[in-house]
Amino acid sequence: MSQDVKSLLKDRFGYGGFRPLQEEIIQAALDGRDCFALMPTGAGKSLCYQLPALAMEGVAIVVSPLIALMKDQVDALRSNGVSAAFLNSAQTRDEQNAVRKAAFENSLDLLYVAPERIPQPAFRAFLESINVPLIAVDEAHCISEWGHEFRPEYRNLKTLRALKPAAPVMALTATATERVREDIAAQLELRDPRVFVASFDRPNLRYSVLPDRNRNEFLEDWLRARPNESAIVYRSSRAGADETAERLAAAGVSALPYHAGLDEKTRTRNQERFVRDEARVIAATVAFGMGIDKPNVRLVMHYETPSSVERYYQESGRAGRDGLEAECVMFHGPRERDRAAYFVDRVDDPALRRAAERNLDAITAYCQTASCRRAAILAHFGETYPADACGNCDNCLADTFDATVIAQKILSAVIRAGERYGAAYIAQVLTGSGSAQIRQRGHDSLSVFGIVDDFSEAAIRE
Ligand code: ADP
Ligand code: ZN
Repeated sequence: MSQDVKSLLKDRFGYGGFRPLQEEIIQAALDGRDCFALMPTGAGKSLCYQLPALAMEGVAIVVSPLIALMKDQVDALRSNGVSAAFLNSAQTRDEQNAVRKAAFENSLDLLYVAPERIPQPAFRAFLESINVPLIAVDEAHCISEWGHEFRPEYRNLKTLRALKPAAPVMALTATATERVREDIAAQLELRDPRVFVASFDRPNLRYSVLPDRNRNEFLEDWLRARPNESAIVYRSSRAGADETAERLAAAGVSALPYHAGLDEKTRTRNQERFVRDEARVIAATVAFGMGIDKPNVRLVMHYETPSSVERYYQESGRAGRDGLEAECVMFHGPRERDRAAYFVDRVDDPALRRAAERNLDAITAYCQTASCRRAAILAHFGETYPADACGNCDNCLADTFDATVIAQKILSAVIRAGERYGAAYIAQVLTGSGSAQIRQRGHDSLSVFGIVDDFSEAAIRE
């Protein structure tokens, strides 16, 4: 890589070196190669197109669906002395004209556009009149109906290639299965692309899936046992987020809600208080998380099962950004799949419905697997975990736990009580809890009464 590019890294972005794959991706763009970059959130994808944009002659085009983030990115670039701008429908005509003028005069390095803009005749004429050395498509999975976030307006991007045949195209995404990857390459008509895939493994995260009960008890126990740690609780509805925040507040835990039903000021304030550790818990819907970087989240709990593995990976990935141990706990109940299927059936657009069905199947399979969760997540993204067991997920840990003694105790209690009672009753006998029924039936004089003191009633039932 040339010295010029390395000094841009330091002088404009202030970084001492590249993160994994950045240098290779940037070099591919500078060489005029199409490329595909699959890297987890936070890995540093933006630099991969921002840096070549500075090094190349002309205006690099960045397509991004996130209008809200566009402005932040552009502001950040400008403060580093990079000349960047965006075009969107919220701008006045004068603002748009000023951006176009800068592009004509070649005094712009980067131009962010929303995908809706691509088919507009005026925009296409504008594109044809400027020099474009690179086209970057961020969140490229949105182009595929096999992906978890298919955006019909991304279909417009197909025409970019024809408009600017000489410009290399760079597709970037944080989530794409093998199938989606192929679809992106086909849709964007990538030419012999160089493919870069970073590892998605987050070794410090411990994944588990718990059955459908005692969610509140789990959460309250967790918080009580770790009085200084902070947690994100994802709920599937606004009402659920409010309910969790209220319940925790009533239990004396500083907790705040975050969802699209709150006004923007409240949302921002709640988010800031959480990030600054003034609130320990944020109880949120999927609306929460974009652009959040709180390093010390120790638990991400999914109170309900999310709608896709991609979404789960992204949301649970907000735990342990500091690299220290953190837990990702998802609850999954037997009726949850049916409930989700009910909504999936009601999706009108057949392509969107098929995509939702596939997502539901994949997340259900993840919940139900008896083997390593980490290996399952990585396999979803086309990555092979190098070992059979990670040793840091519920299934791997369950495998290493020797249940012989507790199983013997449970079975002998079942038999001694006459094989007539359910799990809750047997658990009470084993822990020696003094229910009146147990005494009436004389089960308090069984040899197994109260012989378990290393498991709680709930754990025995489990
Ligand atoms: P992504 O788009 O992959 O989620 P970003 O491009 O937003 O990730 O980058 C995540 C963070 O990493 C940003 O705060 C960015 O400033 C930082 N970053 C990116 N590249 C480097 C680098 N080479 N050295 C240090 N920090 C970097
Ligand atoms: Zn595992």
